[in-house]
Amino acid sequence: MKKLPSIFNDVIGPVMRGPSSSHTAASWRIARTCLDILNEPLQSAIIEFDKKGAWAPNFREQGTTMGIDGGLLGLEIADDRMKNTDLVAKEKGISITYEINSFSTNHANTVRLKLKGFSGKEVQIVAASLGGGSFEIQKINDFEVHIPGGFYELLIFAQTNQHATIQVQSVLSSEYQMWEYKKDEEMLLNVKSSKRFSDIELHHLKGHHMIDDLVFIHPVLPVVLGNETEMPFTTVASLIEYSEKENLDLGELGFIYEKHFSGLSEKELSAKMQEIIKIIEASISKGLEGTKYKDRILHQQSHLIREARKKGKISGNSLVNNIVANVTAIMEAKSAMEVIVANPTAGSCGTVGGVLKAVADDLNSTKKEKIKAYYAAGLAGAYFAQGPGFSAEEHGCQVECGAAGGMAAAGIAQLFGGTAKQAIGAASMAVQNIIGLVCDPVADRVEVPCLGKNVSAAMNAFSSATMACAGFDAVIPYDEVIQTVSKVSLQMPYCVKCTGLGGLAITPTSVRLKKELGKK
Ligand code: SF4
Repeated sequence: MKKLPSIFNDVIGPVMRGPSSSHTAASWRIARTCLDILNEPLQSAIIEFDKKGAWAPNFREQGTTMGIDGGLLGLEIADDRMKNTDLVAKEKGISITYEINSFSTNHANTVRLKLKGFSGKEVQIVAASLGGGSFEIQKINDFEVHIPGGFYELLIFAQTNQHATIQVQSVLSSEYQMWEYKKDEEMLLNVKSSKRFSDIELHHLKGHHMIDDLVFIHPVLPVVLGNETEMPFTTVASLIEYSEKENLDLGELGFIYEKHFSGLSEKELSAKMQEIIKIIEASISKGLEGTKYKDRILHQQSHLIREARKKGKISGNSLVNNIVANVTAIMEAKSAMEVIVANPTAGSCGTVGGVLKAVADDLNSTKKEKIKAYYAAGLAGAYFAQGPGFSAEEHGCQVECGAAGGMAAAGIAQLFGGTAKQAIGAASMAVQNIIGLVCDPVADRVEVPCLGKNVSAAMNAFSSATMACAGFDAVIPYDEVIQTVSKVSLQMPYCVKCTGLGGLAITPTSVRLKKELGKK
């Protein structure tokens, strides 16, 4: 089993623009980190994708270029200029080119970046996007490293020399973790910390005669790593046992979980989640107001629900209507490159936010109840992240809309006032219903069938939470369901894992749309 993930780093978030978190948000984070590694103003960048990898066929359509460009240009991901990075690159005199080549990788979403600074300094970096905004820098100038973007990090380049290591150790606090990598005569010391390095430490290192180059990397994840303390529960069974013993619901357990992960106070955690909810609800309002963006398949449709209801063309069930409208509004905001929250991914960003707002409005839930519902959803997602994770390129849509449905079901059960056991049972039922769901986006746009899958995931979540809180038995425990998702994905063909090579993506209509969109 992987290490337990963070709700903010790995499940709810990143706050982003663009169609896909694994393509856009992770690539933005990779590029921002690479800019730190270059450690001087960028002059040019050559970005390569392996021809057998999942990014090669669709890196433009799914927003990888937008994320990498924005990160390399030093833009914040919510910056409006992310929509027009070509212009920003021109203004700054920076050249960024993209190539498909052949090189060895250990993940489908791998990118190699060759960066050159204005002084002529060059650096080559290999990185992988691991799903839902997570990433890892894996190689720097052929040194194998593990940089996940959550620590304050130092890279100290020197000639291989034991004295250099000892001298660096004597300057730095013994609390830091240090990794030593060697290659021929060269050495890289990678120091990781959960706190900022002090000015005195950096000053001593900068002036040291044995150090060839010193690079400081800022964390790009919302929660800095390394502050974890022991959780009072780990497995799903121990979580339920703990909830019954302490009489806690899933939302309260979500708070406890993230507190142990981050070291943040309950007040800070509440404020952080409230900020996320604000951004999600703003994306619903933005979508419902109407969005414009030329390069997409679906234009505005979220307003059609209200209009159809007024004309008596659809059912008068306002909860169901609001679920469909809210989910659609978020998806439209995403496709128009407006700011959204990947939840757990950008492709599945409509489900949790859309349905939780509709249900909370229906129940007149308080702000505090909504925050707890998001923590319940986040905790259900954290167990999912610990299993297969959220990479559609590895597991198909069962880990995007499927995971989102499970999270939303837990959140709705929390809003209903259900127990932790019921909320986890709701998540189990919702995920059981989508095992094997393929990823086959039409014309490489994260719109069709993604919108319908998000709406279905939200309705699936609602019915699962209703069943669980009414006392239905999920039968298969949530962790066993999640493990089954991983097993089934091994049996799913590559062509239906976000490659554009199977399912609806190869229908004549999809092929035609791709051609037409390519001409725009
Ligand atoms: S089909 Fe699902 S996994 Fe694939 S791009 Fe659409 S939302 Fe994402």
